[in-house]
Order: sequence, then C-alpha cells, then structure tokens
Amino acid sequence: PVALVMVLAFCLALWLAGRLARQLVEPINAVDLNDPGDEIDYEELAPLVGKLRSQKRQISRQMEDLRRGREEFAAITENMSEGLLIIDRETRVLSHNAAALRLLDAQTPVEEDSVLALNREPGFRRCVEEALAGRRREELLEREDTCCRVLANPVEQDGTVNGAVLIVLDVTEKERREALRREFTANVSHELKTPLTAILGTAEILENGMVKIEDIPRFAGNIHREAQRLIGLVNDIIKLSRLDEGAAAQWETVDLRATAEEILRQLAPAAEKKQVTMTLEGGPTPVRGVPQIVEEILYNLCDNAIAYNKPGGSVRVTLSSTAEGRRLTVADTGIGIPPELQERVFERFYRVDKSHSGGGTGLGLSIVKHGAAYLGARVELESELEKGSTFTLIFPRSA
Ligand code: ADP
Repeated sequence: PVALVMVLAFCLALWLAGRLARQLVEPINAVDLNDPGDEIDYEELAPLVGKLRSQKRQISRQMEDLRRGREEFAAITENMSEGLLIIDRETRVLSHNAAALRLLDAQTPVEEDSVLALNREPGFRRCVEEALAGRRREELLEREDTCCRVLANPVEQDGTVNGAVLIVLDVTEKERREALRREFTANVSHELKTPLTAILGTAEILENGMVKIEDIPRFAGNIHREAQRLIGLVNDIIKLSRLDEGAAAQWETVDLRATAEEILRQLAPAAEKKQVTMTLEGGPTPVRGVPQIVEEILYNLCDNAIAYNKPGGSVRVTLSSTAEGRRLTVADTGIGIPPELQERVFERFYRVDKSHSGGGTGLGLSIVKHGAAYLGARVELESELEKGSTFTLIFPRSA
C-alpha cells in the first residue's frame, strides 16, 4: 500500500507540476515578439518586453535606413551613363548597373556568376586580374562600331584585396574624333607638302640659272600658283578650325539675295574664263546667321558650280521661301557627282578627281557642311553624272 500511495502521489505531483508550468508559461508564449503589446500578465516580464520593444524599433529603423541606402545606390547607378561593376575576390558580380551590361554587350548575370563570363575580351580579363592583384588598370575595348574604356580599381581592406570596382565608359565618339583628327593632321601635312615641294623645286631650278630667260615667267607663274594654293589651303584650314571650335560670332539678319549678288560679282571673272553663265532668281530672303559664314558657304557652292562645270554651261542660284523655311539652291549643268560619292564629297580633303589638277583644296564642302550646321541649316545634294548637281541650303523657320 505504501508503494502504491507513493506511485499515486508521484503521478499526481507530475500532473500538477505540468499544469502549473503550462499556466505559468502560457502568458509568456502569448507575448507577440514582433509586436509586444502593453498588456502583460506578469509585472516581472515588463523590463524584458520593454527591451524587446526598443530593440524592435531599432531594427526597423536600421532596416529602413538600409532599404533607403540601397534604393539611393540603385537610383544613382541605374541613371549613370557609365557602367559600374563591383566584384568580390573570386570575381563574382556583387553589383552591376544597366549601363555596364549595355556597354559590355552582356546578359544580366545570375548570382555567383563570374564577371569574366560577362565579357570575353582579353583587355577586360587583364583589368579584372590586375585589379584583384591590387593594381589599378585601364584598357580600351575596341569593337567594330563601339569603343569603351574600362577602369579597374582594387578594393582593399586591412591591406588585403577584397574585390574590385570596374567603371566602363563609352568613348566611341571621343575615339572617332581622335581618329578624324589624326587623319586630318596627316592630310594637312601631305597637302601642305605638295605645293611647297613644287615651289622649292622650281625655285632651285631658277636659282641654279638653268632656266632660259624667256622661260622665267612660266616658272615664276608656277611658284605664284602653288603659293596661292598654299594660302587658299591655310585659309580654309583656319575657317574649318574656327567652325570646329564653335567660336562665338555675331549673329545678324543676313539677306541671302544681297550675299548671292556679291558672290556672283566676285566670281564673274572665273565664270567668264570657264564660259559659264550665272543667273540669280528670287527676291530678298532674310535669314538669321553669321554674315561671314553665310558668305563662305555660298562662295564655296558657287565656286564649285563653276569649277566643275562644262564650257558653255550654266549656274542658277534660286532663292525661295517654303513652309519649312528659306531655301537657297545652287544648280549647275556640270560634270555631276556619282551617287556613291555624294556623301563623301563633304569629307575633309575628299576629291572625286584625285589628281590635284583642279586646284581645289578639298575643304570647300566641309566648310559648307560645318558652316550650315553652325547656323542650324541643312544641306541637301542631288546630282546626276554628266548632267549636273544641285546643292540646296535650307534655313528652317526657327533658325
Ligand atoms: P574642292 O576644293 O576640291 O572643290 P570641295 O570640298 O569643295 O573641294 O569638293 C569636294 C569634291 O566634290 C570636289 O573635288 C569635286 O570632285 C566634287 N564637287 C564639289 N562640287 C561639285 C559640283 N558642283 N559638281 C561636281 N562635283 C563637285
């Protein structure tokens, strides 16, 4: 019986202890850790709940700060025209922006993707490897129609390299300008050298007394012609470089009719020599522009219309106003320009006839094109081989 009572007492104690423990723990479990309310069953729990509440507030604040920081970072990087890539020590992409993918011509990387999978160009790989070795590196990635520069910088912490930041810049336009400038410089040197060599040669022959007295005027004429060509070239280069620099100029209302009249007067001797007749049609046509640039454009167009004409041909300058704006056309009945070269004649130093016999500098139409762009005007060309060419200058209403 004693043993039985003990077993019963033990079971009763076990049941009572469980019940009591449940009663005690229930209100504690009922406390919502995410939002500990004000009503607590035990006063003793108040400090703990208070602490939980303040910690929760702090965590929410920090989360909010983090979210805002991340959003700001994303907003800045996504709106950058430069590409940005952040990688870790194992070349995994930690952060990237849309510009980086666009410039590297890459797909969106999935997590754990190596940055080297984004672009396989050797220059890009060199940048990544050097930066992760702790050295800054710059590389130019040249493709058929684009060109970008990659700048890679190591990210160091406590003296060890933890990753790298890569910036990708679109330098297509800059490189194209550089290439044009290099080409221009090479062309200028060549074009200056040709007349100078001719002058030098002729002068040497004269100096050595190898020329008969009656031939001297012919040789002197050579020198004169080549020197004039040289001056023409230098003047054209100066005009072009002024247009390139976009030097500030005085804008005025220019009458295209008056300007055309003056230019036809200046070119009358040349036209007569070439047996070309010139006509001007249309009334006063005022446009906003820089007088000197308008004159240069018109001069070059009319000069070409005479130079590339046929004996007995004609040049017709017509002025008109349309809904689009004021128009000036210079139509000739000359040799014309083949369709495939009609874009190229506006390039610097480009000549259809490569021999220098024409005496032109090859810069006239470049001045026309750049001058028109400076004035906000447009140039159009229609031409048929052996029939003639028509250059149209359009000053839009707003210009
Ligand atoms: P250039 O000093 O040689 O005249 P331009 O830049 O003015 O240089 O012209 C470039 C080339 O375009 C000329 O060499 C010529 O071959 C061609 N060209 C220009 N205007 C005409 C025209 N009205 N008719 C035919 N060909 C032309």
